[in-house]
Amino acid sequence: MSMWNKFILAVRPRLGAGTRLLEREALAAKTTMRIGGPARVYAEPAATEDLRVLLLEADRRALPVFMLGRGSNLLVPDEGVDGLVVSLVHDHWQRFEPQPDGRIWAGAGLRLKNLCGRATKTGLKGFEFLEGIPGTVGGALRMNAGAMGGWMFDVVEEVHLMTMAGEMRVMSKTEMHVEYRICAELRDAIALGAWLRPAASAPADDIRRQIDVYQKKRLESQPREPSAGCIFKNPPGDSAGRLIDELGLKGERVGDAEVSPVHANFIVNRGHATSADVVALVRKIRARVKGERGLDLEPEVLLFGRDWRDLL
Ligand SMILES: Cc1cc2nc3c(=O)[nH]c(=O)nc-3n(C[C@H](O)[C@H](O)[C@H](O)COP(=O)(O)OP(=O)(O)OC[C@H]3O[C@@H](n4cnc5c(N)ncnc54)[C@H](O)[C@@H]3O)c2cc1C
Repeated sequence: MSMWNKFILAVRPRLGAGTRLLEREALAAKTTMRIGGPARVYAEPAATEDLRVLLLEADRRALPVFMLGRGSNLLVPDEGVDGLVVSLVHDHWQRFEPQPDGRIWAGAGLRLKNLCGRATKTGLKGFEFLEGIPGTVGGALRMNAGAMGGWMFDVVEEVHLMTMAGEMRVMSKTEMHVEYRICAELRDAIALGAWLRPAASAPADDIRRQIDVYQKKRLESQPREPSAGCIFKNPPGDSAGRLIDELGLKGERVGDAEVSPVHANFIVNRGHATSADVVALVRKIRARVKGERGLDLEPEVLLFGRDWRDLL
């Protein structure tokens, strides 16, 4: 019997009825890029205790675990992921709870769009910059997602997380090491949710007007085809998109993976792109930028279950 079958036999009787546990679940449709193979085992825990059971058992058997948010910053390999992929898509993780003291509890599975929409309705300002980022609170914490001059950690007070060994931790923002597109403490831990602090109260119509301005900017500057957002991090003091554009790489293709003609730092899936196509295009862009500008562009999009260093 395979180690995965033994794992499933060990956990299934201990999980609540609402928790989904599936084998060889296709991941492509769970990503915005719409690319990639299946997860060997895929779980949607419906309770904190079920998440702990899954993690403890995987840890005990030294099986790899990978978190999946909305899959909007991920490239899933064509062969899939030989691990336990955990998604906090169940309602249990979607809470949005404003408190009398002004803070908001946001579950890690809550979509940023819903966070922003519900804060607006409640008359709470400060989340507008998150509106067009198609991720979840958990993914935005891990990536310290940012846009329009704001960063996820600007609005965070405290993060509740679970270690891969199933222990609960509460960390204040000041204890966490957060930089451009990385929160170090969440590299190997799972965000369960966070206490967020709105900037101020404001009439919903005023907040909505600011959101509309940001939405318009995105519509004008970003492609509509499936993508994973910006493919490379901006080099210090520079713009990856501008560099790629200057080298005339807009429209460059490998298979159905294309450097977007709208925004050069987006690789879009024109229909049937594979993960291998995207990786080949990333290598091509990096080689041109290195050759002509002497810069090493670092991918922002994460290779799910693998490390870019093994492929670049
Ligand atoms: C059209 C488009 C526009 C975008 N615009 C922006 C932008 O303006 N700014 C920006 O910063 N990003 C942008 N992105 C990228 C992406 O949306 C963000 O990085 C987002 O925060 C990722 O969230 P996610 O839930 O999709 O995470 P995923 O892509 O699913 O995962 C990203 C990482 O977070 C980890 N993760 C997910 N959930 C958790 C959790 N609960 N605990 C711990 N780790 C977790 C995953 O394991 C993975 O390492 C854009 C993407 C697209 C497709």
